Amino acid sequence: MLLNLSVLKDNPGGSIPFAVDLDLRELVFGGCCPVTEPVAASGEVRNTAGVYVLSGTVHTTLHGPCDRCARPVEKPVEFPLHAVLTEALANDDGDEDPWLFLMEEGCADLDDIVTTTFVLSMDSKFLCKEDCKGLCCRCGKDLNDGPCDCQPEADPRLAVLKQLLKK
Ligand SMILES: [Zn+2]
Ligand SMILES: [Zn+2]
Repeated sequence: MLLNLSVLKDNPGGSIPFAVDLDLRELVFGGCCPVTEPVAASGEVRNTAGVYVLSGTVHTTLHGPCDRCARPVEKPVEFPLHAVLTEALANDDGDEDPWLFLMEEGCADLDDIVTTTFVLSMDSKFLCKEDCKGLCCRCGKDLNDGPCDCQPEADPRLAVLKQLLKK
Protein backbone atom coordinates (compact mmCIF):
# COMPACT_ATOMS: atom_id res chain seq x y z
CA MET A 1 0.00 0.00 0.00
CA LEU A 2 1.20 3.50 -0.87
CA LEU A 3 0.62 6.16 1.79
CA ASN A 4 0.31 9.61 0.28
CA LEU A 5 2.35 12.06 2.36
CA SER A 6 1.50 15.23 0.45
CA VAL A 7 -0.65 16.60 3.33
CA LEU A 8 2.49 16.61 5.50
CA LYS A 9 4.18 19.02 3.17
CA ASP A 10 4.40 22.52 4.68
CA ASN A 11 2.88 21.07 7.85
CA PRO A 12 5.66 20.70 10.44
CA GLY A 13 4.48 18.59 13.38
CA GLY A 14 1.64 17.09 11.34
CA SER A 15 1.14 13.35 11.17
CA ILE A 16 -0.80 10.73 9.20
CA PRO A 17 -1.84 7.44 10.80
CA PHE A 18 -1.65 4.18 8.86
CA ALA A 19 -2.69 0.55 9.29
CA VAL A 20 -1.88 -2.21 6.85
CA ASP A 21 -2.20 -6.01 6.74
CA LEU A 22 0.32 -7.90 4.67
CA ASP A 23 0.34 -11.45 3.37
CA LEU A 24 3.92 -12.69 3.85
CA ARG A 25 3.22 -16.44 3.65
CA GLU A 26 5.94 -16.85 1.02
CA LEU A 27 8.73 -15.79 3.36
CA VAL A 28 11.07 -18.66 4.26
CA PHE A 29 12.86 -18.77 7.61
CA GLY A 30 15.02 -21.74 8.57
CA GLY A 31 13.52 -24.03 5.93
CA CYS A 32 9.87 -23.33 6.65
CA CYS A 33 7.30 -20.61 6.12
CA PRO A 34 6.12 -19.70 9.64
CA VAL A 35 4.28 -16.53 8.58
CA THR A 36 0.88 -18.18 8.00
CA GLU A 37 -1.19 -15.37 9.47
CA PRO A 38 -1.50 -11.81 8.14
CA VAL A 39 1.21 -9.43 9.32
CA ALA A 40 -0.44 -6.34 10.80
CA ALA A 41 1.36 -3.01 10.96
CA SER A 42 0.13 0.29 12.31
CA GLY A 43 1.58 3.63 13.32
CA GLU A 44 2.03 7.07 11.93
CA VAL A 45 4.26 9.19 9.74
CA ARG A 46 5.18 12.51 11.31
CA ASN A 47 6.73 15.58 9.79
CA THR A 48 9.53 16.30 12.24
CA ALA A 49 11.21 19.54 11.25
CA GLY A 50 10.85 18.68 7.60
CA VAL A 51 11.97 15.05 8.01
CA TYR A 52 9.30 12.39 7.55
CA VAL A 53 9.65 9.81 10.33
CA LEU A 54 7.57 6.64 10.31
CA SER A 55 7.03 4.87 13.62
CA GLY A 56 4.75 2.09 14.78
CA THR A 57 4.66 -1.63 15.36
CA VAL A 58 4.31 -4.76 13.28
CA HIS A 59 2.96 -7.97 14.76
CA THR A 60 1.76 -11.44 13.83
CA THR A 61 1.67 -14.99 15.16
CA LEU A 62 4.17 -17.43 13.69
CA HIS A 63 3.43 -21.12 13.24
CA GLY A 64 5.88 -23.85 12.36
CA PRO A 65 8.10 -26.66 13.61
CA CYS A 66 10.84 -25.76 16.09
CA ASP A 67 14.24 -25.82 14.36
CA ARG A 68 15.68 -28.03 17.10
CA CYS A 69 12.93 -30.34 18.42
CA ALA A 70 10.40 -30.13 15.54
CA ARG A 71 7.53 -29.52 17.95
CA PRO A 72 4.77 -27.35 16.49
CA VAL A 73 5.25 -23.80 17.72
CA GLU A 74 2.78 -20.94 17.88
CA LYS A 75 4.66 -17.76 18.66
CA PRO A 76 3.30 -14.20 18.76
CA VAL A 77 5.94 -11.68 17.69
CA GLU A 78 5.95 -7.89 17.72
CA PHE A 79 8.65 -5.62 16.31
CA PRO A 80 9.01 -1.84 16.38
CA LEU A 81 8.76 -0.01 13.08
CA HIS A 82 11.06 2.91 12.55
CA ALA A 83 11.94 4.45 9.23
CA VAL A 84 13.06 7.75 7.85
CA LEU A 85 11.55 8.63 4.48
CA THR A 86 13.60 10.56 2.01
CA GLU A 87 13.02 12.02 -1.44
CA ALA A 88 16.42 10.94 -2.67
CA LEU A 89 19.18 8.76 -1.33
CA ALA A 90 22.31 10.79 -0.72
CA ASN A 91 24.78 8.17 -1.87
CA ASP A 92 24.18 5.34 -4.25
CA ASP A 93 26.98 3.00 -3.25
CA GLY A 94 24.65 0.16 -2.25
CA ASP A 95 25.58 0.57 1.40
CA GLU A 96 22.28 2.13 2.42
CA ASP A 97 20.93 2.48 5.90
CA PRO A 98 18.11 -0.13 6.00
CA TRP A 99 15.90 2.28 7.97
CA LEU A 100 16.13 4.92 5.25
CA PHE A 101 13.43 4.50 2.62
CA LEU A 102 12.91 6.30 -0.62
CA MET A 103 9.55 7.99 -1.22
CA GLU A 104 7.87 7.37 -4.53
CA GLU A 105 6.23 10.48 -5.90
CA GLY A 106 5.45 11.76 -2.43
CA CYS A 107 4.21 8.39 -1.15
CA ALA A 108 5.61 5.93 1.38
CA ASP A 109 5.67 2.32 0.17
CA LEU A 110 4.32 0.72 3.36
CA ASP A 111 4.54 -2.84 2.00
CA ASP A 112 8.25 -2.42 1.34
CA ILE A 113 8.96 -0.74 4.71
CA VAL A 114 6.97 -3.26 6.75
CA THR A 115 8.32 -6.31 4.90
CA THR A 116 11.94 -5.12 5.19
CA THR A 117 11.57 -4.34 8.90
CA PHE A 118 9.85 -7.64 9.56
CA VAL A 119 12.50 -9.72 7.76
CA LEU A 120 15.40 -7.89 9.43
CA SER A 121 13.79 -8.28 12.87
CA MET A 122 13.16 -12.03 12.62
CA ASP A 123 15.45 -14.41 14.48
CA SER A 124 17.46 -16.63 12.18
CA LYS A 125 16.34 -19.62 14.24
CA PHE A 126 12.72 -20.51 14.88
CA LEU A 127 12.68 -22.09 18.34
CA CYS A 128 9.88 -23.20 20.68
CA LYS A 129 11.89 -21.53 23.46
CA GLU A 130 15.31 -19.90 23.64
CA ASP A 131 16.91 -22.82 25.50
CA CYS A 132 15.24 -25.66 23.58
CA LYS A 133 17.42 -28.73 24.13
CA GLY A 134 16.43 -30.33 20.82
CA LEU A 135 16.51 -34.01 19.93
CA CYS A 136 19.23 -36.52 20.84
CA CYS A 137 21.24 -37.01 17.67
CA ARG A 138 21.53 -40.77 18.42
CA CYS A 139 18.13 -41.96 19.70
CA GLY A 140 15.97 -39.02 18.59
CA LYS A 141 14.40 -38.48 22.01
CA ASP A 142 13.14 -34.99 22.75
CA LEU A 143 15.60 -33.84 25.40
CA ASN A 144 13.15 -31.23 26.66
CA ASP A 145 11.29 -34.16 28.25
CA GLY A 146 14.43 -35.21 30.15
CA PRO A 147 17.71 -36.93 29.38
CA CYS A 148 17.77 -40.10 27.27
CA ASP A 149 19.60 -43.35 28.05
CA CYS A 150 22.39 -42.82 25.52
CA GLN A 151 25.86 -42.89 27.03
CA PRO A 152 27.64 -39.61 26.45
CA GLU A 153 30.12 -40.10 23.67
CA ALA A 154 33.72 -40.03 24.85
CA ASP A 155 35.50 -36.87 23.85
CA PRO A 156 37.80 -37.90 20.98
CA ARG A 157 40.52 -35.63 22.36
CA LEU A 158 40.45 -37.55 25.65
CA ALA A 159 40.83 -40.84 23.77
CA VAL A 160 43.95 -39.51 22.07
CA LEU A 161 45.30 -38.36 25.43
CA LYS A 162 44.69 -41.80 26.95
CA GLN A 163 46.59 -43.43 24.09
CA LEU A 164 49.54 -41.11 24.71
CA LEU A 165 49.53 -41.74 28.46
CA LYS A 166 49.58 -45.51 27.97
CA LYS A 167 52.93 -45.32 26.23
ZN1 LIG B 1 12.12 -26.86 20.42
ZN1 LIG C 1 19.72 -40.46 23.07
